[in-house]
Amino acid sequence: MPDIVVVGSLNLDVTVPLDTLPGLGQTVLGGDHLRGGGGKGGNQAVAAARLGRSVAMVAAVGADAEGDRLLDILAAEGVDTTAVLRATRPTGQALVLVTADGDSTIVVSPGANMWLAPEHLRPVAGVLSGARCLLLQHEISAPTVAAAVAAATGLVVLNPAPARPVDPAVLARVDVLVPNRGELAALVGVPVPEQVRLDELAGMARALGVRGQVVVTLGADGAVVVDADGYTLVPARPVRAVDATAAGDSFCAALADGLLAGQPIVEAARWATRVAAVTVTRPGAMDSLPHRAEV
Ligand code: ATP
Repeated sequence: MPDIVVVGSLNLDVTVPLDTLPGLGQTVLGGDHLRGGGGKGGNQAVAAARLGRSVAMVAAVGADAEGDRLLDILAAEGVDTTAVLRATRPTGQALVLVTADGDSTIVVSPGANMWLAPEHLRPVAGVLSGARCLLLQHEISAPTVAAAVAAATGLVVLNPAPARPVDPAVLARVDVLVPNRGELAALVGVPVPEQVRLDELAGMARALGVRGQVVVTLGADGAVVVDADGYTLVPARPVRAVDATAAGDSFCAALADGLLAGQPIVEAARWATRVAAVTVTRPGAMDSLPHRAEV
């Protein structure tokens, strides 16, 4: 049985460099595109595998060349893809338009990721219940997340990204919830300002009714670990950041890795900030994820 089972999205990212982003109705010519593996599920699976964890992925791709390519990418990283299904919808794709200044516009076509339904999890119930840790995000449907969480017997880590509300019954089974500020706001239903006091932030996180802890990531400000007794700020590592893409994904995978190693949550969060700090010093999504020895 793998250490970590990721139930989540797989996308083929198509990145096009541009001088200026197109306006409404406009056509612009860009540079040569790059194609690479992506999707929060895929990124977190690869991040955990590069930290040395055995990882299996439960996901869906289309019966198309993009799906073949994603399976090859995961297999090359040592991620078990036996439970990746072929959907009747096309493989998820993200079109990333990015300027030299770092401004970007992203369009995601989730395709097969949103096809993945609770009934598809039945044949892999043994994989879900056997995992030491189940790692999930919000790029698949809410009922599928809920069904996976219900089947888990090990540690459940939910990264509620992108932002959407979560059923209280799901939160009650989550051991560690890892939202960023915006995702926390979507969960509590009120905006969370940049300058929010940490005790207020902790109060919001605690009110969610998560079974274990909430770790709120704050970008360059680090992360706050909130449990029933209090909160601890874990500062980010000071680095020269060039691209924050996949920072949150590497943070979540490293947090799960630390917890599986028996670290207390604050120590696991410190490890996660170290891994995420390396990620932000490099461009790209999957390409930027570090191997354990590099951290
Ligand atoms: P993304 O969507 O880009 O993956 P996110 O919004 O989910 O990111 P963030 O809170 O931006 O997540 O970042 C996650 C973690 O990455 C932070 O808690 C921090 O440890 C690390 N991090 C992010 N930005 C920086 C930075 N500029 N310098 C150092 N560490 C950073």
